[in-house]
Amino acid sequence: MTKGKITGIIANLVIVEADGPVQQNEICYIQDGKSSLMSEVIKMLGTTAYIQVFESTRGLKIGTEVEFRGHMLEVNLGPGILSKNYDGLQNNLDTLEGIFLKRGEQSEALDSDKKWEFKPIAKKGDVVTAGDWLGEVTENWLPHKIMVPFKFEGQFKVKSVAKESSYTIKDTIATLTDEDDNEREVTMVQKWPVKLAITAFKEKPRPFKLLETGIRTIDTLNPMAEGGTGFIPGPFGSGKTVLQHALSKQAEADMIIHAACGERANEVVEVFTEFPELEDPRTGRKLMERTTIIANTSNMPVAAREASVYTAMTIAEYYRAMGLKVLLLADSTSRWAQALREMSNRMEELPGPDAFPMDLSAIIANFYSRAGYVYLNNGKTGSVTFIGTVSPAGGNLKEPVTESTKKAARCFYALSQDRADSKRYPAVDPIDSYSKYLEYPELENYLKEKIDDSWTQHIQLLKNILLRGREASEQINILGDDGVPVDYHIRFWKSEVIDFVILQQDAFDKIDQSSSIERQKYMLEKVLKVYHTEFSFEHFEEVNEYFKRVIDQMRQMNYSEFESDKFKQYEKELEKLIEERKAE
Ligand code: ADP
Repeated sequence: MTKGKITGIIANLVIVEADGPVQQNEICYIQDGKSSLMSEVIKMLGTTAYIQVFESTRGLKIGTEVEFRGHMLEVNLGPGILSKNYDGLQNNLDTLEGIFLKRGEQSEALDSDKKWEFKPIAKKGDVVTAGDWLGEVTENWLPHKIMVPFKFEGQFKVKSVAKESSYTIKDTIATLTDEDDNEREVTMVQKWPVKLAITAFKEKPRPFKLLETGIRTIDTLNPMAEGGTGFIPGPFGSGKTVLQHALSKQAEADMIIHAACGERANEVVEVFTEFPELEDPRTGRKLMERTTIIANTSNMPVAAREASVYTAMTIAEYYRAMGLKVLLLADSTSRWAQALREMSNRMEELPGPDAFPMDLSAIIANFYSRAGYVYLNNGKTGSVTFIGTVSPAGGNLKEPVTESTKKAARCFYALSQDRADSKRYPAVDPIDSYSKYLEYPELENYLKEKIDDSWTQHIQLLKNILLRGREASEQINILGDDGVPVDYHIRFWKSEVIDFVILQQDAFDKIDQSSSIERQKYMLEKVLKVYHTEFSFEHFEEVNEYFKRVIDQMRQMNYSEFESDKFKQYEKELEKLIEERKAE
């Protein structure tokens, strides 16, 4: 084992002279006699290792011994990850006193005493490769596949698989033989280095399926694709948390991973207290049963923040390999980038814009590219959909982290302060936001088949109406209500119908909070019907008054069970209202 001695300490960056070979990203431990501090090699220059310490380096002395472990930062992958609260180094925060680790303290990621009911999938004689399914256990209520470890290279023959019974994660559940007839034993737990993507799949096509979220401003206007990527920049109080909760509860995902990265400590405490309270609309049970939280707060050393996003992504890829749909939410990736900046500055590297590392864009792009929709070796599919939030200082969307994220992510959900101030929730700005998946012919075809032949044209029209409505509203503001033709008012109010009926959605109403795609289609057709109707009005005040009534009827529809008697009643009244004012 390579060892070394500390020759320099700059906050969490420690410089070590090594006595043997050391790899980039290798894990090492500083042994100061009392505790063992976990660290990662972030740069090698000859025999000098620059290591980032995942703990406070307070009291550390020059000359202290360091042991290198010969592997990178790894996570334990196996049953028992669901419902856990981990930190970035996969310490189980629930088994610790208080939610913060003491220095040098570590905890077991997975319970090694718990017994799991194992059912074999593979049979003796099967030829398998990394990621292939050997058996299954039930984790909470999700099927959890036990796979050929991702580190196994080449082909293996199944020599034996354990029979149906209960086992711990340490028991051998299969024996495989490699091409040279060497035997390899497989348990239910395997390790994987977090900085490397898990690629045990056959193919990763561009995302082409709609990921329904039930949130109209996303699904109808700027759809997310299954296995796609998106980001949400949002000022405080703009509804970021409510939006993330809505996505977690409603998006078509089997499993949710929430990486809470280095926001203020009290916010992370909020994640721990609020998330477990959320109800799962699909099962009526707690959402936490299919959620894992990975949390780091800003009072933990910067290096630990970086680890948390990678740990979260690796766990997401692990569940994807089981054929599941995973939704990964990371809040906020800006804190992660700040951690990169601090380390880069301490190493006195040549700085890029705003002193972020020169390769910030590449690091972010690499990370986002680990999301995706995959075909597994057995023909089944799985996905990791990734939505990150950024917290640009002062709402400046031109700063490097937001800019780099913009290049990497395909969807952009801009939370607007103005909309939040006027309580137009969710405060996603319909004009600044976008989904590049709408430009993918694959997704367009999918939407055509699933929803409607002219769905994408309808979306385009909707966006145009909103844009023209905004222009009309600006004109009205400048010239005064009386200073513009009545037509301007009509144009403005037609866009308001879309705003109130499609864009706005009450996250706290049991019915309105989630809208099926059939319902979204139905309501879109309704608002377009209003749009295409020619109305006649004498005076702008009539316009305002009339459209407020239209909006009210349609909102009542939104608050009623789809196609219920109540819903139909409001619809009937709406139709009457439209007839009333229709131009001859
Ligand atoms: P942030 O996390 O950005 O600071 P929150 O998500 O806590 O903001 O939202 C602030 C407040 O905005 C919430 O307490 C809630 O009252 C309101 N809000 C946000 N989104 C919605 C929504 N979709 N429906 C109703 N109210 C909302």
